[in-house]
Amino acid sequence: MSLYNAVSSCTACPLAETRSQVVFGAGNADAELMFVGEAPGFHEDQQGIPFVGAAGKLLERLLGEIGLSREDVFIGNVLKCRPPGNRDPQPDEIEACQNHLFRQIELIQPRIVATLGNFATKLLSGNPAGITRVHGVEQSVRLGSSQVLLYPIYHPAAALYTRAMLSVLEQDFARLPQLLGRASAPAASDEGAAAKVAAEPITTEPATQLGLF
Ligand code: URA
Repeated sequence: MSLYNAVSSCTACPLAETRSQVVFGAGNADAELMFVGEAPGFHEDQQGIPFVGAAGKLLERLLGEIGLSREDVFIGNVLKCRPPGNRDPQPDEIEACQNHLFRQIELIQPRIVATLGNFATKLLSGNPAGITRVHGVEQSVRLGSSQVLLYPIYHPAAALYTRAMLSVLEQDFARLPQLLGRASAPAASDEGAAAKVAAEPITTEPATQLGLF
């Protein structure tokens, strides 16, 4: 069975009973750069695609500023199913789901895995240090049979709440071309667009995303 089919029919944890559908991940299966978020939210659960809400729009803008689009990268999550009410992932859910992520990384073999926020960072670094301490600091790690550069950055949903966090996320994001061995992207100059995305209301999932800080 393909990994996609196995994950799509997974019943390894109780989230299988409350999800609308599994959110496998999306993008380029040969990507050099992979992003790992936390878990699907309401819109992702409805559409079956990761990062389709306000945080996803911010992620797309940041990608655009370094000359990339969603189609160039692979975007996945620690959990493939939405936790009810967008609550934090539970340890038993992470444990049940983590092999799906490790298999994805083995198959895609990205050079860089950018972890978005605490859950992905702690899982893939194997270190309890939080994102506020480790963001923007790359480290070479072995994940299964793959050696990758792990690059923790703030979760875009968290950056939607705090202007200061957004500018740290923009600065950390701007280092990605250099880490990928490409010429650096021009400095982010479109403050208007940044403010517009940041100001977009997140009406369906605000409080729960605060756990991402
Ligand atoms: N937040 C995440 O961590 N993942 C998604 O897919 C959407 C929002």
